[in-house]
Amino acid sequence: MIRINENFLSMEKNYLFIDIAKRLRAYTDEHPDKPLIRMGIGDVTLPLAPCAVDAMKRAADEMGVKETFRGYEDSGAGYEFLREAVAGYYRQLGTDISPNEIRINDGAKSDCGNITDIFDKDNVVLMTDPVYPVYADSNKMSGRRIIYADSNEENGFAAMPDENIRADIIYLCSPNNPTGSVYTTAQLEKWVDYAIENGAVLIYDSAYEAFITDQQIPRSIYCVRNARRCAIEMCSLSKTAGFTGVRCGYTVIPHELTARASDGSEIRISDLWARRQGSKFNGVSYPVQRAAEAVFTPEGQRQIHENIAYYQRNARLIADTLNRLGISFTGGENSPYIWLKCPDGMDSWEFFDYLLNEIQVVGTPGAGFGKNGNDRFRLTSFNSYENTAEAMERLISLYTKRRNVSGH
Ligand code: PLP
Repeated sequence: MIRINENFLSMEKNYLFIDIAKRLRAYTDEHPDKPLIRMGIGDVTLPLAPCAVDAMKRAADEMGVKETFRGYEDSGAGYEFLREAVAGYYRQLGTDISPNEIRINDGAKSDCGNITDIFDKDNVVLMTDPVYPVYADSNKMSGRRIIYADSNEENGFAAMPDENIRADIIYLCSPNNPTGSVYTTAQLEKWVDYAIENGAVLIYDSAYEAFITDQQIPRSIYCVRNARRCAIEMCSLSKTAGFTGVRCGYTVIPHELTARASDGSEIRISDLWARRQGSKFNGVSYPVQRAAEAVFTPEGQRQIHENIAYYQRNARLIADTLNRLGISFTGGENSPYIWLKCPDGMDSWEFFDYLLNEIQVVGTPGAGFGKNGNDRFRLTSFNSYENTAEAMERLISLYTKRRNVSGH
C-alpha cells in the first residue's frame, strides 16, 4: 500500500492567502459599493518591458521556421547567450561570476525549494523569523530541523548570527520579503564568517536586488569577501523585470563551494546541483530566455528601471505617510515592501480587519510569515500611484480620527 510523506501532515495549512481571499469576498458581498485598494499583493502590476516582448516575439517566429527551430537546450543550464548576459550583469554589480557558475531556471521559487534535494536530511537549517515561507515549507517537507533567528524591532528586522547556535544550511533574503529590511556589507560579512566557521552553506535570495538604491548596500552576496566559499545566490526576473507570468530566474553556485562526503572526498556543490537539475528539470523555453537576455541589454535595463522607479515612488509615498503619522516601519527604501507596526496592541489580523472595514485598504497580516510578524503588517508598492495615494489619504484620515477620539 502506498505510504505518504507524513511530513506534510505536520505542516500548518497554507491558510494565509486563502483566509485573506475569504475575508475579502465576504466584505465585498456585503459592501458591493465600497471598492477595495489592494496593497497586499506581492505580484507586479506594470506590463512587461517592450524589449522583452519584442525578443519573445522574434524567438517565437524563429521557433516556427525549420532552420531556426530549437528543441531541448543541450547543456540544461540555460543558453550561453543568457548566462553570458547574467555574468555581464554581475560585473556591473562589482563581482566576477563565470557563465558556467550560473544556471537558468523558471523562477527563484523552484530553486529555493528544490535545492534541499542535494543536502542530507540531518542538516540543521537556520532561517529568519519572519521568513518567505518557501524556505521553511520545503525543509519541513523533507523533515529537516529548522531553527529560527529572530528578526525583530531590536535588530531592525535583520537578524544576525548567534555564535552559540550551530547550523548547516542558512537562508538569507535581502532586500527582505516580508520586512523590507536590507543587510549591509558589514552584516553580511558576519554571516559569511559564521557560515565558514560552521562549514555551512548560505542560500542567499536576492530576488529584490534591483530595488536597492543605496550604493553602500550590496546587491549580490558575492560583493562580500569570502562569500564565494560558502554562498549560493538565487535571483529572479520576476520583480525586477515583471517576469512573474513569464518565469525566468538564475542560481549561482561558485566552483569553490565544496563539501566533504562521508568518505572524506571533496565534492563540488555545483556538480551535485547540475546532477539534480539534469535529472529533474528540462530547462526554460527559448523565447523566455531570449526575453530575459533582452532585459540585460542597456535598453532593457533602461526600460525595467522605469518600472522599478514607478514602484519606488509608491514605496516612498507610503514611507513618507507612515513617517508623518509616526508609525514605526522597516522597508520602503531599497525595497518594494513596507513592514509596519500595528497600532495599540492590535494583532496583525485585527489590524487587517480594521483597515478593511474602516478604509477598505487591504494588506498582508504579518502573522503569515512567522511569530515576529504577529504585530506587523505588510504593504506593497506594486500598485498604481493613484491607488497608493488614495490608500495613504484614507490612512491619514483614519489615524487623524483615531487620535482625535483618544485625545492625542
Ligand atoms: N524569493 C522571494 C523573497 C520572493 O518574494 C519571491 C516571490 O515573491 C521569490 C523568491 C520567487 O519568485 P519567482 O519564483 O517568481 O522567481
